[in-house]
Amino acid sequence: MNGKTIFKKIIDGEIPADVIYEDEHCLVFRDIAPKAPTHVLVIPKKEIATLDDIADEDAAVMGHLWLVVRDVARQLGLENGYRVVVNCKEEGGQEVPHVHLHLMGGRKLTWPPG
Ligand code: C5P
Repeated sequence: MNGKTIFKKIIDGEIPADVIYEDEHCLVFRDIAPKAPTHVLVIPKKEIATLDDIADEDAAVMGHLWLVVRDVARQLGLENGYRVVVNCKEEGGQEVPHVHLHLMGGRKLTWPPG
């Protein structure tokens, strides 16, 4: 990968983000262009470009992200439900090549996505 992705720059504190949770393995911050009243991104600190690039050794970190989703959703008051989306590569609509879980809620979400 040539240069840092925008998310790696956020992890490294080089550009600002509205961080709402951080631990050794992950970072959670508000999406800069929210698609729902609540829209945050849950990302691993490890640089993994896409879902397609997850290695077997990443299982614990990726599993950890789901526990963080659960806890952050509670923290954000999404007790009525929420959606988690991971876009993968071009046809999946992925723009930033660093794995991220979109956690969205705060309104009735429609299905299917476009
Ligand atoms: O899944 P995808 O790669 O398309 O999502 C990237 C997301 O990152 C977008 O929702 C975009 O608004 C968000 N973003 C951000 N802060 C940035 C750059 C992008 O929250 N500085």
